[in-house]
Amino acid sequence: MKKVELLAPAGDLEKLETALRFGADAVYLGTERFGLRALAGNFDLGQLRQARDLCRAQGKKLYLTLNAWLRPQEFPDLAALLEELRPLDFDAYIVGDPGVLATVRQVDAARPLHLSTQANTTNAQGVNFWAAAGVARVNLARELRLEEIRAIRAATACELEVFVHGALCVAYSGRCLLSAALTGREANRGLCAHPCRWRYALMEETRPGEYFPVEEDERGTYVFNSRDLCLVEHLPELVAAGVDSLKIEGRMKSVYYVAAVTRVYRAALDRCLADPRGFALDPEWRAELDKVSHRPYGTGFLFGGEGAGVHAADSAYVRACDFVGVVREEGESLVVQGRNRFLPGETLEIIGPAMRTAAFCVNEIRSLEGDSLPAGQPNRLVRLTLPEGTQAGDLLRRPVKSLGDTDQI
Ligand code: SF4
Repeated sequence: MKKVELLAPAGDLEKLETALRFGADAVYLGTERFGLRALAGNFDLGQLRQARDLCRAQGKKLYLTLNAWLRPQEFPDLAALLEELRPLDFDAYIVGDPGVLATVRQVDAARPLHLSTQANTTNAQGVNFWAAAGVARVNLARELRLEEIRAIRAATACELEVFVHGALCVAYSGRCLLSAALTGREANRGLCAHPCRWRYALMEETRPGEYFPVEEDERGTYVFNSRDLCLVEHLPELVAAGVDSLKIEGRMKSVYYVAAVTRVYRAALDRCLADPRGFALDPEWRAELDKVSHRPYGTGFLFGGEGAGVHAADSAYVRACDFVGVVREEGESLVVQGRNRFLPGETLEIIGPAMRTAAFCVNEIRSLEGDSLPAGQPNRLVRLTLPEGTQAGDLLRRPVKSLGDTDQI
């Protein structure tokens, strides 16, 4: 079967290293300006060079997002940024605004261009239009059904990319003024406060204080609330439909999220490419995806947008694990850098690439100097007895039942 790329988010250098280590073929990341995700870590020029070096050393691809919609006065700054980035050896810009596309063409004509999902491309005519404008790859609108993706593939030679995992948006990806209107934070600048997921009630003007709940069903009022996309069990259909790249959403997610989700999709994609007919969902993959912070999962619009594929009655994040720490190299030995507090006697899990997972009991926590400590603390480097096979870059987690917030650290 043809090679299909697994494309993972890289909100900062640590997440980039993690995504590569846990199986991504390519990563996408933002510069400090003009990439939607104003609150993600984003990269300055020095960090971009490091990112480029890391990707090149491993033969992986690096794409830079420039997918904001710009105002007239911003184009001189964009041209200056493009000029600055021109010597840097990376694989493509991801753009959405035709004005940005035209400016890249002028300043950095040789650079490949990918079209962002923000451009909402829903048909082959559109894909071919963008291809004629110099776009090498189109990230198709998330609203497409599988048979529509197949039809587009049959009518274009352009590379096609689809999202397979992560948050959905009730508006056409970020083309929504709700956040700007209610909070002054514009979704189109990567600042969405997600007000579509807040609780709402209806009040008739002459009855102040009498709220009528906006009910979808007996469980709640989340009429705009979307599920998270999860297509891990449908990779064979997507590969057979001819997509070139499978994209994981989430530049603002934690290192732990990037690691766990990337390794699941790596395992699933490898299995799918090796034996598409014999492919079956491994329960371990879904269990692993349940161990990261997520809203209820659905298949989005792939099989039609109605009902449970997209909308959820409950907006709460759930997860089955807490991110506890990262394994680092310290001289000849391995140490743990804490991300959350942990205690002696706790049972933790180590996760590594290729779905390597090992549970172990923390018998003693020691400082780098060897003193016994009552707990591991965020950011502190400590020594533990780790399971055999543990490697630098592995992550530690702790099982929890469910929490109402994200796992972003
Ligand atoms: S407010 Fe909701 S629908 Fe609008 S852009 Fe943000 S996430 Fe999307």
